[in-house]
Amino acid sequence: MGDIHDDVSRIEALFRSVLSTADSVEALQGVRVRFLGKKGEVTSLLKQLGSLPDDERPEAGRVLNELRDSMERSLAEKTRQYAGAQVTAREREEWIDVTLPGRGRPWGAFHPVAQVTQEAIDIFVSMGFSVAYGPEVEDDFHNFEGLNIPPHHPARDMQDTFYLENGLLLRTHTSPVEVRSMRKWGAPLRIIVPGKVFRRDSDQTHTPMFHQLEGLLVDENISLAHLKGCLEAFVNRIFGRPLKARYRGSYFPFTEPSIEMDVECVACSGRDPGCRICKGTGWLEISGLGMTHPNVIRAGGIDPVRYNGFAWGMGLDRIAMLKYGLNDLRVFFEGDLAFLNSKGERR
Ligand SMILES: [Zn+2]
Repeated sequence: MGDIHDDVSRIEALFRSVLSTADSVEALQGVRVRFLGKKGEVTSLLKQLGSLPDDERPEAGRVLNELRDSMERSLAEKTRQYAGAQVTAREREEWIDVTLPGRGRPWGAFHPVAQVTQEAIDIFVSMGFSVAYGPEVEDDFHNFEGLNIPPHHPARDMQDTFYLENGLLLRTHTSPVEVRSMRKWGAPLRIIVPGKVFRRDSDQTHTPMFHQLEGLLVDENISLAHLKGCLEAFVNRIFGRPLKARYRGSYFPFTEPSIEMDVECVACSGRDPGCRICKGTGWLEISGLGMTHPNVIRAGGIDPVRYNGFAWGMGLDRIAMLKYGLNDLRVFFEGDLAFLNSKGERR
């Protein structure tokens, strides 16, 4: 061991320089290990004290202890600064204002057509009908031929059909599910078929896709009176009050006889010649209906001598328009949130 004062000066200068570059609590810990740890620079000098002559030992011990204490103080002070700074930075990063209002969670709502569809399902299910579904891409047999509409039948012109390249088509009505259901379940049968249908048609009251609700009942000794009872009960319930109904002769290939059902105007009850809903007629077309044609029952694999039945079809979008007092069907399909929020019922 040379002159203790030289060693102390050298180590102290080195310590100050290393300390000045330490910029975190972790780096300061490294400085402590390097100088004051078990194998540190100061520690190894302290270990050599025993080998000094007796008269030099007390002075050397005093100088080294002073050095060690001064390093400890410097390290402690700088560590305190950095620890404080790190805590402050973390506090700033993780700070939250617990007095802020929470983020709102907007409530969704059912689309008006979905609401009317569900209401209609509930009403007919309460009468004992089951809900049936079928494909939206159909073949000619189920959409036309099985419904008594052979090729070249003029009724095919009544429905502007979207044909697909593979010979299939987008169903023009929910009636194909009649044939599918009769073939699947046989008679007796009571079904309703809500669903999307497609026609090449677009104006204020027609959209290329719209929603129909089909109904079919097949059993023995069924009459038009049964059908009128079902539909009038339905209309009274969906519009919330008893409505007068009237029936007009019509033509559909799949029913015989074929009938159109009108109900009194839900807006004016026939008392307003300027009513925009019924255009002053006092009546609203609500459904096409009739006794199922024997050819259709036969196409469904059921004996038309033993069984007969009735069927109807109605536009769910139209019923929703009447319920909500709208005169443009297209608003249902434009996705306008302001409209949907104003008509949507929260459940
Ligand atoms: Zn009216």
